[in-house]
Amino acid sequence: MSVTGLCEVCQQPDVDHTCDRCGRLVCDRHFDDEVGFCVECSADVAGPGDRQPTPDDAPDGVDTYRF
Ligand SMILES: [Zn+2]
Ligand SMILES: [Zn+2]
Repeated sequence: MSVTGLCEVCQQPDVDHTCDRCGRLVCDRHFDDEVGFCVECSADVAGPGDRQPTPDDAPDGVDTYRF
């Protein structure tokens, strides 16, 4: 294993893992072995329905088109 660099979360030099999702180099503390992702991606995919859309503060009738 020749992973070189700093943990992109805490900037420590002892990186051992590469996130399978975002490709970031992370140290052991910031890598979730169970999912193979960094802690941020792990939290991101933690559970379906976990992320809820923030209520839009625009009133009804305003045409908001999003791509
Ligand atoms: Zn770290
Ligand atoms: Zn990640």
